[in-house]
Amino acid sequence: MLKKSIVNIQNLNHFYGTGLLQKQILFDVNLELRTGEIVLLTGPSGSGKSTLLSLIGGLRSVQEGSLEVLNWELNNASNNQLVQIRRNIGYIFQNYNLLGFLTAQQNVQVSAELSKVSRQEVRMRSETILRAVGLGHRLNYYPQQLSGGEKQRVAIACALVNRPRLVLADEPTASLDGQTGRDVVNLMKQLSQENDCAILLVTHDNRISDIGDRTIRIEDGQICEMSKSYSY
Ligand code: ADP
Ligand code: MG
Repeated sequence: MLKKSIVNIQNLNHFYGTGLLQKQILFDVNLELRTGEIVLLTGPSGSGKSTLLSLIGGLRSVQEGSLEVLNWELNNASNNQLVQIRRNIGYIFQNYNLLGFLTAQQNVQVSAELSKVSRQEVRMRSETILRAVGLGHRLNYYPQQLSGGEKQRVAIACALVNRPRLVLADEPTASLDGQTGRDVVNLMKQLSQENDCAILLVTHDNRISDIGDRTIRIEDGQICEMSKSYSY
């Protein structure tokens, strides 16, 4: 079955700096992500992985080329449109990005509130997703009372609570030990598949290299290798 395109990138270039200090970071990137697939993005440090992820996530303005997310063109998109698109995307970062003065459940509620549902619904959804990531017994714990793996599970709950169509994860296992990292990524995979959500996962971590449907390698801002491309 031909699956729908979630991300479609054509001839994307990106630069940092201006004038003489301008430096090109991404070169003619072409990439497509489809519903429900898990794509790993690897490559050396400084090759442009986080830049690409932040562009796809609507966190940075597109300068040159076409970048469509959920059939919205991000090049020249208004701030309002970017806000709308971000509501359909879940973000997971290496350092968890939890608010230390809020409990696990309150952290997830902050994300759930973005979808403008009732307070009761917010509370219910956040509790349900925290149970799904195995943290039903940690709802009222603060981040500092949680292990690294538990914190990353809370971050996954934050990313998934609004049932996004796309999850962008930037080195989500980098701060975790091997087994914990695998468990966390397996959980992301399982929950995303249940919701037919695509995942783009930046990683250096060889221990999780088998988890994706495809792996894309980027070097010096250019996509240089794609493996395990699937057949329809
Ligand atoms: P990766 O995630 O693959 O390590 P990045 O996308 O973070 O790579 O960075 C790619 C290149 O862009 C690096 O050379 C980095 O130093 C540079 N860079 C990243 N962010 C900025 C920025 N905000 N301003 C200027 N240069 C940047
Ligand atoms: Mg990076």
